[in-house]
Amino acid sequence: MIQFINVSKKYNRTYALREINLRIEPGEFLYIVGPSGAGKSTLIKLLYRQIRPTSGLIRINKFNLTKMKNRNVPYLRRELGVVFQDFKLLPRLTTYENVAYAMEVTEKRPTIIRNRVMDVLNLVGLASKSRRFPDELSGGEQQRVAIARAIVNRPKIVIADEPTGNLDPQTSAEIINIFENVNRQGTSVIMATHNSEMVNQRPHRLIEVVQGQIVRDENKGAYHHAA
Ligand code: ADP
Ligand code: ADP
Repeated sequence: MIQFINVSKKYNRTYALREINLRIEPGEFLYIVGPSGAGKSTLIKLLYRQIRPTSGLIRINKFNLTKMKNRNVPYLRRELGVVFQDFKLLPRLTTYENVAYAMEVTEKRPTIIRNRVMDVLNLVGLASKSRRFPDELSGGEQQRVAIARAIVNRPKIVIADEPTGNLDPQTSAEIINIFENVNRQGTSVIMATHNSEMVNQRPHRLIEVVQGQIVRDENKGAYHHAA
């Protein structure tokens, strides 16, 4: 369970988020929408403790992110998988290696690692491209590698910041399918997006952020609020 209580984030003098209250239950699929500069990325960065709130409380499962010391961040990150707009793959590693590299390898036998990596590559439809390097893959394929990497350790929560931002509509549809499959396995999915077509075709819980505040929170909400 994720909880934000009166969370504000200030950069220098400007508030990126102001007094946010939000609760996300295990297994939910949540879209975060809103105009550029509204605070969506700030909300995402707070979730994986890239940044700390200026005030307020953030809890994720047993972790208090507001108080968390930097040395404890890796324990939080074990429960999270993160996917970015620009994929952030390691360019000198193959598909297989990008995913295997992210895997918790401590005390795991090589066959277990190999099986798990190939399982997630099958899940995202990329087993046949396990030996390719990122620059030999399309944008959609690179994003599928990034998703495989994000889920390989079976996180409870997957967080994505504009994951279809660089992809065409057809490819975006494939990517949302994968996120929905991951969600069906019980993993929470939290996705900031500008992709109105995707949001409207695959409705889920939606919050809209405007000028640092949540102005809308709907089950199966449409991208644009019906006036
Ligand atoms: P969104 O993701 O919705 O486009 P952001 O969370 O990136 O919005 O930004 C929210 C506000 O905070 C914007 O006004 C932005 O200019 C500001 N901001 C974001 N990051 C920083 C930063 N590192 N330093 C100063 N201001 C920032
Ligand atoms: P091919 O050998 O025809 O290129 P694949 O790339 O699918 O076929 O790989 C065959 C098997 O080798 C996979 O099932 C996988 O377990 C393993 N494999 C692929 N890439 C690596 C790698 N970089 N390191 C270790 N094992 C790998």
